[in-house]
This record gives sequence, structure tokens and C-alpha cells, in this order.
Amino acid sequence: MKCLIKSEPREGLWLKTAPVPEIGPDDVLIRINKTGICGTDIHIWDWDEWAAKTVPIPLITGHEFAGQIVELGRNVEGLQIGQRCTGEGHLIGKQSRQSRAGKFHLDPETRGIGVNEQGAFAQYLRLPAFNVVPLPDDISDDIGAILDPLGNAVHTALSFDLVGEDVLITGAGPIGIMAAAVARHVGARHIVITDVNQVRLDLAAKVADVVTVNVAEQDLDEVCSRLKMREGFDVGLEMSGNQRALDQMIEALVTGGRIALLGIPPGKSPVDWSRIVFKSITIKGVYGREIFETWYKMIAMLENGLDVSDVITHRFGVDEFEQGFAAMKSGRSGKVVLDWT
Ligand code: ZN
Repeated sequence: MKCLIKSEPREGLWLKTAPVPEIGPDDVLIRINKTGICGTDIHIWDWDEWAAKTVPIPLITGHEFAGQIVELGRNVEGLQIGQRCTGEGHLIGKQSRQSRAGKFHLDPETRGIGVNEQGAFAQYLRLPAFNVVPLPDDISDDIGAILDPLGNAVHTALSFDLVGEDVLITGAGPIGIMAAAVARHVGARHIVITDVNQVRLDLAAKVADVVTVNVAEQDLDEVCSRLKMREGFDVGLEMSGNQRALDQMIEALVTGGRIALLGIPPGKSPVDWSRIVFKSITIKGVYGREIFETWYKMIAMLENGLDVSDVITHRFGVDEFEQGFAAMKSGRSGKVVLDWT
């Protein structure tokens, strides 16, 4: 089978052939139709410090996918050959207290496909049946291939009640943009998204009904007074990992405001803790998706009018994968989808 593999400890990924994976009794084999390129895949492509210490080689990368079940392990029940699906890419253990309490997304033993285990940038993927998420007919393979990052957006956005609230989102990457669309869908009042990348802010305005602010050129306070927001934002969704964005968010929040943090700062990041204490701000770190609560919620929202399809800005056949990665690295793209059919 064709696959995109990290086979050498240097920049790049290589399109090679590998044997189709053999499945165990509790696994399924999925024929991959579409995959999404993630920021994580860019780190692996670049072979930065994180990738070099995390990723074993050779490794088939990729964890955002949609496809079709073509083989079932002998213990698998409730799934069918031919069924369209995507799946949770975090392979969890069953031993930890968190797992045994059903909080699978908090399991410390978690291993990621395409990061620690063989991944989805391939014509076939082996996945535990437990991780499979069937796709309804009205959700396309393109959308199926981006449910993993949409899940990050949904998990972050639904961390706090947004109904009737004013929401500030810092960082207009694809996940920030999709979080804005989710905030709108669930009934937030004002939604403001900030970035310094105008292309991404324009994409945010196209995908979601939001106010965009280029903080390199515009003053956030002015935008707030234009919106007649007197006290500040109720909820902040930090998606950039940028120190200045977090500082600005803390200042722009109401007393007693709430922040969900998905963005990852590059290292230790200085934070004005006394402001957080005196403003009585609640902060929640968010990682991955709730398994499988987030999946149920997002599929239900997609079937009830949530539309994030415009966040996919580029589509390439897998033989053109280098163009796909170039689009991602340009900073001028939304989600990039590769076609394996
Ligand atoms: Zn991802």
C-alpha cells in the first residue's frame, strides 16, 4: 500500500510502499479515503525538537482520516464491512483510574496514531474497533477527515456554557475558526476572533458569523466599545499559544470570566497570576476530545446545521502531498485534505 512515512531523522516525509497492516482480534482494517493535515504533522515534517524526541522511525504519520471498514477482527461486534467511518486517534489504556472511571480522554497511557503508533497517511489503517466512529450518510469524507480537529474545537468551545455569552477567541487557525462556528451554533452573543494573519481572519469571517480583529492593526478595546460590551468577555478560548494573546485575553475578560486553553506556548510562559487571582478567573486546560462525548456532540451539531465546510481550503491527491504540506506551511490555508482514492 502507499503511505506517507517518516523514514529518516530529517526534514520531510516520503511517499513509499509498505505492507497492509495485519489486524488483531479486536481491530478493524480501514481503507482510507481522505486525510487531513494537522499542525502536528508539520512538526513531524520539520523534525523539530518535540518530534525528534517523540516520534519513532520509521513511522507512518497522520491521524485525521475518513474511510471504510474492509476487515473485522474476530471479536468485533456492532460494525460492518463496507461501513463508512472515522475514528479517535488516541489509543487508550484500560488500567488507569481515569479510564476505569470512563474518562478515557484523561488516560495518561494514551498513545497517538501517526505520532507514537502507525498512522493514517496510508491506503489502509489498523484501528481498535473501540476507536471507530461510524459516519452518517450526510457527513462527507472531507468533513469526516477533519472531525479530529473539529473535535478539539468542540471540546474547547463546550468547556463552558456559551449561551448568550460574549466570547473572545485568540488565534484564527482552523481550530479557532471552527470553535467560532461552534460558539455561534450554540448561541453565543458576540464572538470576536483575533489574530495577526489577515488571510486567516478573512477565512474566519467566511466560515463563521464573527467579528474579526487584526491585533497588529486594530485596538480590541475599540471593537468592544463598538459592540457596546461594557464589562468584557465572559469566556475566552485561547487557541494560539501566544503569550501576548493570553495577556490580552486576561485583560479583556470580565471579573469571574472563564478561559479554556488549547493553544500550546513554545516553552514556559510568564503569566500575570495576580491579575488572574484578583479577577477570579477560571482556567481549564484542554487536550484532545472527550472520548466519545465530543464525537456525539459534533456529529449531532453537523446534522443540525453546523457548517464548517469552508474551513477546507485546499484539496490534493496524495501524489501531490508536497503541495499540501507547502500550503499548510504558507500560513495562508485553512484545512488541507489529501485524497487517497
Ligand atoms: Zn490533528
